[in-house]
Amino acid sequence: MPHLKFYDKEHEQFDKYRKLLVSNHDAELICRKLARHFKFQFLKVRFFGKRGKTWNMAYSAFHCLRLVNEPSILIIVHELAHLYNWEILRIRSRRRRHCKRLITTERKFIRYLEKNNYWDMAYEGEINA
Ligand SMILES: [Zn+2]
Repeated sequence: MPHLKFYDKEHEQFDKYRKLLVSNHDAELICRKLARHFKFQFLKVRFFGKRGKTWNMAYSAFHCLRLVNEPSILIIVHELAHLYNWEILRIRSRRRRHCKRLITTERKFIRYLEKNNYWDMAYEGEINA
């Protein structure tokens, strides 16, 4: 799936979660809970900058994330899904990084968060994903 088309599809499916933001502290908590539940490694997250002025990234081989300050649920889930797909599904080529399997993983993570009421810690803000 080409890059831009991937984001269209992702935004269409998860629009609501682009506006649901959490504090850095809660973002890290969500990362740890998802990693524990879905049994993949997550070591560290670092936060940088302001939304729209920096980038988010998964360092899959190092099990680390770089996220914008106060990220949206979609940003967290997207970058964590890269760690999961890399480690558990072993999808490692650059070309396949933004594939349908990433959306499947994102959906799985979001369902789990919803089921466990993690929305309590989120607040609505401007789109940031
Ligand atoms: Zn990505």
